[in-house]
Amino acid sequence: MFEKLLVANRGEIAVRVMAACEELGVETVAVYSDADRHAGHVEYADEAYNVGPAPAAESYLDGEAIVGAAERAGADAIHPGYGFLAENADFARRVEAADGITWVGPESGTMERLGEKTKARTVMSEAGVPVVPGTNEPVESADAVRELGEEYGYPIAIKAEGGGGGRGMKIVQEAGEVDDALDAAKREGEAYFDNDAVYVEKYLDSPKHIEVQVLADEHGTVRHLGERDCSLQRRHQKVIEEAPSPALSAELREEIGEAARRGVGEAGYTNAGTVEFLVEDGGASETHRGGGGEAAGPQFYFMEVNTRIQVEHTVTEAVTGIDIVAWQIRVAAGETLDFEQDDVEIDGHAIEFRINAENPAAEFAPTPGPLETYDPPSSVGVRLDHAVAQGDEIGGDYDSMIGKLIVHAPDRERCVRRSARALKHFDVEGVHTTIPFHRLMLADATFRGGDHTTKYLDEELDPERLSEAVDRWGSDGGSRAPSTTSAQTLTVEVDGRRFDVLVEDGLVEAASGGDSADGGSEGSGVSAAEAGAITAEMQGTILSTEVEVGETVSAGDVVCVLEAMKMENDVIAASGGIVAEIAVSEGDSVDMGDTLVLLE
Ligand code: ADP
Repeated sequence: MFEKLLVANRGEIAVRVMAACEELGVETVAVYSDADRHAGHVEYADEAYNVGPAPAAESYLDGEAIVGAAERAGADAIHPGYGFLAENADFARRVEAADGITWVGPESGTMERLGEKTKARTVMSEAGVPVVPGTNEPVESADAVRELGEEYGYPIAIKAEGGGGGRGMKIVQEAGEVDDALDAAKREGEAYFDNDAVYVEKYLDSPKHIEVQVLADEHGTVRHLGERDCSLQRRHQKVIEEAPSPALSAELREEIGEAARRGVGEAGYTNAGTVEFLVEDGGASETHRGGGGEAAGPQFYFMEVNTRIQVEHTVTEAVTGIDIVAWQIRVAAGETLDFEQDDVEIDGHAIEFRINAENPAAEFAPTPGPLETYDPPSSVGVRLDHAVAQGDEIGGDYDSMIGKLIVHAPDRERCVRRSARALKHFDVEGVHTTIPFHRLMLADATFRGGDHTTKYLDEELDPERLSEAVDRWGSDGGSRAPSTTSAQTLTVEVDGRRFDVLVEDGLVEAASGGDSADGGSEGSGVSAAEAGAITAEMQGTILSTEVEVGETVSAGDVVCVLEAMKMENDVIAASGGIVAEIAVSEGDSVDMGDTLVLLE
């Protein structure tokens, strides 16, 4: 077993990995950015290293700095969590090449083969796993896309080869939309994944998203841990996940599980991974199973492999009793999976709720701010994965997750009731949260019936019901009282390493005085911005600029597109004017309050 493991991540997943380490007797090392000096994962770790400024590109995505921290700490393993560098094969390769450090994940070559969607489709087809009808080669021209549109029938999806997290996918309803969609998919692929290659898939009408958790050791043993149903999505992002799926027959469950196991087995996969499928009643336009064109019964199609731990691994842990993260570490250390496929039993039902600082009544816009009240539920059947405490600030630098609530009960009906109880007692004030949305879903006939597809929230749910839910169950959302940091201990950084120093009373006074003075000036910084300046409302990356110097814009015009918190946000001119200066260009990282465009 390893002696010391560095977690190349932040937030709840960093703490989750460290918890597994503690139980395995492995020491833990955190990395953090300037914005995270006081973050929960830093407090939790045995030791911690600063790896750079707040923007992720300069800290959590800086592979060299992270491996450097591991070397300084004398860590013998690196776990990437999810997001950031978790699916970056180049980073995995860098870790593999570092002396005496083991990568906790599949081998970099395997990540590359399965991470690129076209390659993964080929690997799975060769293993006899049905794939969503589409191309296994990149598509170059709009004409080629239109030909495929004719072949599969619209709608189709143009997907970035390196895509993920719902990014880099453009849905095309008709031939006339192909040119714009192709450009947008290529642009997103390039911006997020450094790869502008795209391919085309049939866009299924109303599928369920079903994924299978797999675990594989380095000695050829592959097990699957059953499926998760992640069909409740908003703009292709999962919001509630559960296990087992309320929509699968025992027969289909067995078939999908075995297909996943066979697929990753033949790919020589190791460590934990997830094989994602779409399941549709009656199948898509092509029949891949049973030959002969019979289209009756639900049909499953491989979509992609995630070569890392996923946010929603928790529901599988709840129903199988298997600690997936501990197994990631154990198999990376060379241990053998010690259970048979038949030993994997599904016990009851589990649902995970992503508790995000977002306002469901305003298109789920992120609402950064202080957790003035943070009082999560407890008691039977409730698990909370988080790395925050009352008084913490949910900042605008990273994603908007506050934590994850995971509820386990003997069956789905009781799990729904237990979840309602837990969410009712989840008390958060200071920011808006997704709690009212979750409470609405637990009372929603479609969700309760298990009948929801991936289109349900976007196409069927009446937005009015979201507003009502927020009015009824929401927090006051963002009153933005200044946070009160009382410090008995002072945190200092010496040569980039973090230390807690106990200070005498008088000095503590001085330190907290400095804190609130900072907080005060932060708020006024934005309003003091130059008149005519259009500023960033949150930290993010510029995807495109939509205006040119000298151009006349009117109120409501989009001046640029800012990617923040995993969403594309149109930045809009509040009033009209002539563009005097464009302060940013495509690919720039910006902070909250930065000037983007100046109008005169
Ligand atoms: P991820 O975001 O998990 O990396 P994708 O971006 O491939 O995976 O897909 C995200 C979601 O987009 C899916 O769960 C599904 O709702 C939808 N989706 C993807 N491909 C298709 C398709 N061919 N037909 C219908 N829906 C799709």
